[in-house]
Amino acid sequence: MQDMTTEENLLRKVSVGWTPQVLQAMQELLDGGSKIAITAHRSPDGDAVGSVLGLFHLFAAQGLKASVVLPDRFAAFLDWMPGAASIRFHSEEPEATEEIIGTADVLFCLDYNAPDRAGSLAEVIRTCSAKRIMIDHHRDPDTFAELMVSDPLCGSTCELICDWALSSGCWSDMTLEAAQCLYTGIVTDTGSFRFPSVTGHTHAVIAALLDLGLNHAEVHEATFDDQSLSRVQLHGFALSERLKIWEEAGIGVIALGLNDLERFNYVSGDTEGLVNRILGIRGVQMAIFMRESDPGKVKMSLRSKGMVDVQALASAHFSGGGHTNAAGGVLLGLSLADAKAQVDAVLENWIIEQR
Ligand code: 5GP
Ligand code: MN
Repeated sequence: MQDMTTEENLLRKVSVGWTPQVLQAMQELLDGGSKIAITAHRSPDGDAVGSVLGLFHLFAAQGLKASVVLPDRFAAFLDWMPGAASIRFHSEEPEATEEIIGTADVLFCLDYNAPDRAGSLAEVIRTCSAKRIMIDHHRDPDTFAELMVSDPLCGSTCELICDWALSSGCWSDMTLEAAQCLYTGIVTDTGSFRFPSVTGHTHAVIAALLDLGLNHAEVHEATFDDQSLSRVQLHGFALSERLKIWEEAGIGVIALGLNDLERFNYVSGDTEGLVNRILGIRGVQMAIFMRESDPGKVKMSLRSKGMVDVQALASAHFSGGGHTNAAGGVLLGLSLADAKAQVDAVLENWIIEQR
């Protein structure tokens, strides 16, 4: 076998979304002093924050200045990420952030496949005069962007950003800051490399990041091992007092009300990962986590094993979507008790359909 450099080897498996046409078109948009804005979806998760900051750092290394705007704040366990303090939030500065997007020449839309997923930023994203570049891995994207890199087979948007660095020839701009951010998104969106979406290429990209000097243990510690006591206790309470198991069907459901959350001094992000604990139970094929976020509003998080398709369930019944094994949605206009009854009815039907 011919000797290949690590980069050449990695290049063979980059996402099919990075066609030469897309790469060239993106480069042309970046050249010539364009005003660049970078956005991601509302309730930004590790992949959303990791990808916007990863791209921000890659651009910075190339002498390109970009503004990062998110619809709302992310959970505190991501605050450590380099560059996090420079992010602007529409929920806190509506006029200033709309101005940034409204006057941008190029708008990056990361980790979402439709303007609605960006919550309160949807309208300005839809109507702005910027050229929109969507880079995402959710199924069934809307065609709102001038350039689309959509790869539902890829486990994270952060991996797609790494693939861009590889295929556009700017891997050498991968600073430690960029690597930390992108690694975080890959880890969080793959459930620490456990979901079926993980490939040999995912691991090869990680190996290349480690070769650059990335300290992965530090990232894990900062992200996962810095939880408040009340958060850990909330998880214990939810699992022991609020879990309903449908044993025969292999379904587990946790529902938490506002009063439960108050009792444990809930702050945004505290229930992150709880749904995966349900999925970790032997025999459970589908895990559902319900959280009353406001009176009359219940957020849904769904996870599954193997062929069980929670994306279909979320889009059919919970105004949501996502991926086959990880999806989300919302139930509006219902008390938690009514939302639970509705979920019960949906699941009963689902069980009959599976027979
Ligand atoms: P999570 O349960 O972590 O909030 O979300 C899991 C997956 O479902 C993520 O990939 C996320 O993008 C997607 N998702 C979560 N909430 C929604 C939603 O309201 N609408 C859609 N279309 N997807 C969602
Ligand atoms: Mn993602």
